[in-house]
Amino acid sequence: MTTISLRDEAAGLLQDLIRLDTVNPPGNETLVAEHLRSYLEANGVACELYAKVPERANLVARIPGVGDGPRMLLLSHTDTVLADPGEWQLDPWSGELRDGQVWGRGALDMKGQVAASAVAIASLAREGFEAPGDLIFAACADEEVGAGFGLQWLVEEHPDAVRAEYCINEGGGDRLVLGGRAFYVCSTAEKMSAPFRITVHGRSGHASRPGMADNALVKAAPLVERLGAFQDEPEVGPEVAAFLQAVCGEIPQPMEAVSAARAVHPLAGDIVEPLLGTTLSPTEIEASKKRNVIPNRCQITVDCRILPGHTQNEVEAKVAGLLDGATYDFEWVEGQGGTRSPVDSPLWDVVESFVAEVEPEAETVPLLLSGFTDSHWVREAFGTVAYGFFPMRAMEPEVAARLIHSADERIELDDLELGVRFLRHAAGALSSLP
Ligand SMILES: [Zn+2]
Repeated sequence: MTTISLRDEAAGLLQDLIRLDTVNPPGNETLVAEHLRSYLEANGVACELYAKVPERANLVARIPGVGDGPRMLLLSHTDTVLADPGEWQLDPWSGELRDGQVWGRGALDMKGQVAASAVAIASLAREGFEAPGDLIFAACADEEVGAGFGLQWLVEEHPDAVRAEYCINEGGGDRLVLGGRAFYVCSTAEKMSAPFRITVHGRSGHASRPGMADNALVKAAPLVERLGAFQDEPEVGPEVAAFLQAVCGEIPQPMEAVSAARAVHPLAGDIVEPLLGTTLSPTEIEASKKRNVIPNRCQITVDCRILPGHTQNEVEAKVAGLLDGATYDFEWVEGQGGTRSPVDSPLWDVVESFVAEVEPEAETVPLLLSGFTDSHWVREAFGTVAYGFFPMRAMEPEVAARLIHSADERIELDDLELGVRFLRHAAGALSSLP
């Protein structure tokens, strides 16, 4: 038997995973779950498939602990967003290896981390890895849509499969150079996604006689403007404070936070800007379906992101103040996420010690995500300390940000290999975690 490097092993597995089309919808994540199961079982890792419907399985693999120590969950999702082959230089499902990069939909988000996690646990199993607590790898369905087939369902129906004290997921790991210094960001918190709808009522009529009707679309226009101009009272939460302290050397007043960060590097300002308060983005509008009918109803959907620690009720009151004097119906569409794990935790030391090992001059900084990931399910259900961290330094963060959910998505093999190293490091720390 020939032995191949972990780098090649991860690359080969990632190529396989990309070639299995798991665009969600419809998902078909069982294709990936089955492939991972055969790979992991061949390496001596016990696996279980959990599926709400047969074609959308979640895979959970485990190296059981030999004591009653804390458990660590390597979390990932196996579905991807769609890809339009016409926009791509290569077939999005080719998994082609070219110039040290694996190409294809999901390479960054997040089949790369799926493959790296699988190779980490498989290689550790081959080496006879033992820890006091369980090392768990979960490759879940349905993160991109969140229709209840993935981690949400697992946490509700099979909580023992994924219960863990610590979790490493997607959502961080970028290496940023700001003001001449290198920082690796580790996401420890996420804003809540809480879209709402505003409905304005009027009276319909023939469009040729506007005076006879009460046009709901026209009445909605000033509301859209006010919503779009909303600026929340800025505040600096614990994650942003730690980020600013590291990057600027001080924690500026909330009003000065963006300009202080921007003075170090424009990117730092862009990062901080949406993290100081609730943001509102009106994104959808629905009124008349016919050109010649004046609408009696106009519905505006607003994408709203709320800081952790704040509630939908508080935001609803702010919207009421903003739209004071107008008559409308208000309705929440949903409220997901908005959770945080402490920055000061034993898992933080694990991430920091890895960065210190691979790049001693670099600093690890926490980040609040403006979007959200599956991490909130385990934070809410089990109080898990969950961080987003998958280190990337070969690919520039601006390049990666442009490729995620977009054409020509690809990952550097150097980053894939670094990811395997980090996940093995994190698993190795299980023996010393409290
Ligand atoms: Zn993702």
